[in-house]
Amino acid sequence: MKKALVCGAGGFIGGHLVKRLKKEGYWVRGVDIKAHEFCPSAADEFLVLDLRQEANCWRALSLPSGKFDEVYQLAADMGGMGFIHSAETEIMHNSVLINVYMTHAAATLGIKRYFFSSSVCVYRDMKHGEPEMHESEAIPANPDNEYGWEKLYSERVAMAYERRYGMAVRIARFQNCYGPYGTWRGGREKAPAAMCRKIAAMKKDNIVEVWGDGSAVRSYTYVDDMVDGIYRLMHSSLKGAVNIGCPEYVTVDELAQTVADIAGKRIRIKHVKGPVGVQSRNFSNERIYSIGWKARFSLKDGVAQTYPWIAEQVKLNQKR
Ligand code: NAD
Repeated sequence: MKKALVCGAGGFIGGHLVKRLKKEGYWVRGVDIKAHEFCPSAADEFLVLDLRQEANCWRALSLPSGKFDEVYQLAADMGGMGFIHSAETEIMHNSVLINVYMTHAAATLGIKRYFFSSSVCVYRDMKHGEPEMHESEAIPANPDNEYGWEKLYSERVAMAYERRYGMAVRIARFQNCYGPYGTWRGGREKAPAAMCRKIAAMKKDNIVEVWGDGSAVRSYTYVDDMVDGIYRLMHSSLKGAVNIGCPEYVTVDELAQTVADIAGKRIRIKHVKGPVGVQSRNFSNERIYSIGWKARFSLKDGVAQTYPWIAEQVKLNQKR
């Protein structure tokens, strides 16, 4: 039986990844600084550890006998635009420590395969209508925020250890990911979850607040597709960073309208001041397509899976 370690297993994508690895027949240890907020972990063993401390990275990796076959590193101090703009030092401090210690410990222990969750935030801002950007175009670098710089640095840490220690490193640059069992309130939620919450909790005036002028373009990848991309990439021979994302690009206003359609509600969008991030995105998926991955969920299909769960959370929360 293959053994996998999932760091960040108490989080959104890590929690879903553990379920997928269990389905694939792995023995899984999950590690996180906290338990999963929304569901019990599917991992065989779950350790609560702060991975900013080097000794805890070694602890996470140690087994009574043998070694982990695969390590998936998804732990990060992480959130949507609101968080990214207000927590620059936390991101630069906490996520760097996790990545430096975990990569070093895994490589020196002789782990064979190591996955690192990067982000398309490593890329510069784009203009509407620009042609697709490929992975190599992250350099020369000009990410819009410190979250992107941290990811770029940690990618390079992982690649340096790959060169020195021969550990097979697989790096995914995720587009925005959404789905059930993810953060939906509290300041760390990302746009799709925030929109689902706002529309589920909307008052009789039908007003939904959207940060900025609503024209920023993004693509959103449903979590089952993302996890499938992680799994395929980990077992591929693709070295270097690989974009993973749904090729359907929409404006923030269109995202709000898609959620409203699924909810069966009429909305009136009110544009308000707030952190928007980059204006536009358009990334090549050629590399991930080359190993047989394609997004199966359209935005509409993914929101149809996500909205009912968030609406239920809103309802439960209103009762409390
Ligand atoms: P998440 O916040 O739900 O999961 C990250 C987990 O890391 C959390 O459970 C958190 O508790 C844990 N963590 C934070 N600090 C820790 C520490 N010191 N020790 C141990 N655990 C710690 O986020 P997610 O959406 O599941 O993202 C997973 C990974 O994917 C992250 O690296 C993130 O940067 C990356 N990513 C996510 C998206 C997205 O849209 N969700 C997009 C691009 C990249």
